[in-house]
Amino acid sequence: MDVPAFADRVRSGDRAALARAITFAESRRADHQAAARALIQELLDETGKAIRVGVTGVPGVGKSTTIDALGSRLTAEGHKVAVLAVDPSSKRTGGSILGDKTRMARLSMDRAAYIRPSPSAGTLGGVASKTRETMLLVEAAGFDVILVETVGIGQSEITVADMTDVFVVLMLPGAGDELQGIKKGVLEIADIIAVNKADGDGERRAQDAAGDYRAALRILSAQGGAWTPEVLTISGRDDVRLDTLWERIVACRAARERAGEFAERRAKQQVRWMWDMVEARFRDRLAGHPELAGRVPELERDVAGGALAPTLAADEIAKVLGF
Ligand code: GDP
Repeated sequence: MDVPAFADRVRSGDRAALARAITFAESRRADHQAAARALIQELLDETGKAIRVGVTGVPGVGKSTTIDALGSRLTAEGHKVAVLAVDPSSKRTGGSILGDKTRMARLSMDRAAYIRPSPSAGTLGGVASKTRETMLLVEAAGFDVILVETVGIGQSEITVADMTDVFVVLMLPGAGDELQGIKKGVLEIADIIAVNKADGDGERRAQDAAGDYRAALRILSAQGGAWTPEVLTISGRDDVRLDTLWERIVACRAARERAGEFAERRAKQQVRWMWDMVEARFRDRLAGHPELAGRVPELERDVAGGALAPTLAADEIAKVLGF
């Protein structure tokens, strides 16, 4: 591969080159991954300039509807918008429901938008790392807004909050029990809570829910930084207050930038990425080790059954791996 030439094509916004670069990054083949890394290194100066926004919420809350409307609004204003998905449950064959182009009818037809479904799961660390590489590639291709979509599965929200500048949680205007089913940890990492479906009959309930979330945030929020988390009501379907949502996202990032927290956050994310890569490679090595392939299931069974202490099993694995 001619890395400088390929990098030029990505820089010029060539969508086929971008898609190919992302496919390399997502590939399990070592030579493809090495090519993607070389490419990213070549493009490094062009990365990091986008505003990176995480968006989460339970299935049905309106993520794709809201991203479609918000994204279209932004491309109309001259932005280039990339939508990436992090779905730790996506299988190699089945693909991800997140980032599915059919869910974003307008954006998927929009030349100023790029939608990429979740890389298939090996491990969450792997998915996250590949999404970070994709993020850098789309930045180098000139996308200045990156929306990273995820659902509340396992650690996925923390993972996405860890790779973005601003984290938006979409909520439903539920009837009573507003906080049911919402993981406490999610409120703690939210920069903006947007109660969706504030339209028609839902408007009133959305306002009530917003009040509950404001109260909850006052208790739960662990943030002492430049930004105090905010709650607003929106309608992704009817494009109600999506302009305000965007304005508050930009305000959050600006507040952090002014306080020096933005650079600090990005720097920490880079270091955490490095360690995630180390862990992911370690796990790959483990999974592909010929001696361990047959032995690990036995160890797991013995540990699960109480026949073997977890510490001894860990010792055995570490010894085979050479440390
Ligand atoms: P996702 O699973 O979070 O991506 O949710 P979708 O965007 O697919 O939306 C789930 C359902 O809620 C769909 O039937 C949408 O039409 C509907 N929906 C999404 N946003 C709104 C909204 O702002 N108001 C109303 N009333 N319905 C909405």
